[in-house]
Amino acid sequence: MRINIIGGGPAGLYFALLMKQLDPAHQITIFERNTPDDTFGWGVVFSDKTLSYLRDNDEPTYTEITRNFATWDNVDVVHRDEKITIRGNKFSGIARLKLLHILQARCRELGVDLRFRTEAGDAAELAAHSDLVVGADGVNSAVRARFAQSFRPDLSVRTNKYIWYGTRHLFHGLTLTFRQSEAGTFAAHSYKFNETTSTFIVECDAQTWARAKFAAMSDEETRASLAAVFDKDLGGHQLLSNNSKWLNFLLVKNRHWSHENVVLLGDALHTAHFSIGSGTKLALEDAIALYRCFVQGLDVPEALCEFEQIRKPIIEEYQQAADESLVWFENAKDYMHLEPLPFAYSLMTRSKRIDYDNLKRRDPKFIAAYEAALNSSSVR
Ligand SMILES: Cc1cc2nc3c(=O)[nH]c(=O)nc-3n(C[C@H](O)[C@H](O)[C@H](O)COP(=O)(O)OP(=O)(O)OC[C@H]3O[C@@H](n4cnc5c(N)ncnc54)[C@H](O)[C@@H]3O)c2cc1C
Repeated sequence: MRINIIGGGPAGLYFALLMKQLDPAHQITIFERNTPDDTFGWGVVFSDKTLSYLRDNDEPTYTEITRNFATWDNVDVVHRDEKITIRGNKFSGIARLKLLHILQARCRELGVDLRFRTEAGDAAELAAHSDLVVGADGVNSAVRARFAQSFRPDLSVRTNKYIWYGTRHLFHGLTLTFRQSEAGTFAAHSYKFNETTSTFIVECDAQTWARAKFAAMSDEETRASLAAVFDKDLGGHQLLSNNSKWLNFLLVKNRHWSHENVVLLGDALHTAHFSIGSGTKLALEDAIALYRCFVQGLDVPEALCEFEQIRKPIIEEYQQAADESLVWFENAKDYMHLEPLPFAYSLMTRSKRIDYDNLKRRDPKFIAAYEAALNSSSVR
């Protein structure tokens, strides 16, 4: 098969290497506009489940990825200067760039044609000369826009503002920190992803963002202002920028997932708020799901149909949970009056995927402390 892939992010690279490993006769080309070393982003996270899928589908990449991992099982919630730890939430983190390098190296080893610094051009033209075109071109996908009549995308720009930073302060575990400044409520999502660096994403609502006057600030001023908000949390370390910009989360859904021999994967196809896990996990799992349709021996139209049928309900369920989580963060200020333990409980159960019983199994000590707090007069 002649397979052309637009976008060399996790989805495009992983799909390419799986298909090449399935049949070395496939001619697979990836068009990527960036260089192999463009350092967009900091760390990305995976759950245990994703790791087991990686192991089952391509052992060499699994081995390399796990050699470069930071792992943890705790979520720490910081509110009113108190840190509440909830155990039993196993996750792993890796630098986005490291992950891309591992996937690029495996693609090269298998003979995938990687074309960096190359714009893909018109997807319709490419489709005319391909058996399969994969639009793995990210959240602002041009492939999705090109065939919008078929994909019928539903794009919703959310109101909260967020920005990706890094820091040399090491957060051992997924740490969700809430701080109140004169401008309003800020939340930080942070986790260490190697021995020296943590991801530090800051999120706030539109009113807080406007009151803080970020629109008029330079990169340096923004970092200084946010470092002051999270002064108690950063251990004297700075926030590190990497082309970091304030963004509004774009919620992407598509009514249909393919158009003739063109299919979308990863962020181009769907997004899920970063508070519930990462887009990287879904991007890799999409690649596996599509690849497994070809493993069954289906032809392109059958495989694309099967992919949508099998994967869509899973994504819809995931997006539902992510949406509940997103809405909780959009309304974070309304929970700030809660004491730390009930606050942490509300945060942990926000997506409705984790409930009281589930939390009790994960961390009975936390539930015992939460119940004791509920029974105490101060919380009542
Ligand atoms: C700049 C950035 C920083 C991020 N930082 C983090 C982070 O720190 N932590 C985290 O958990 N998640 C992060 N994410 C989100 C997460 O990485 C994504 O959810 C995940 O990468 C989705 O994978 P993907 O392969 O679908 O898309 P992407 O990783 O977005 O990859 C799409 C690729 O397509 C390329 N492309 C687009 N159009 C064309 C074209 N016309 N021709 C050629 N190439 C094209 C882009 O250059 C890009 O490399 C970040 C995403 C971006 C875009």
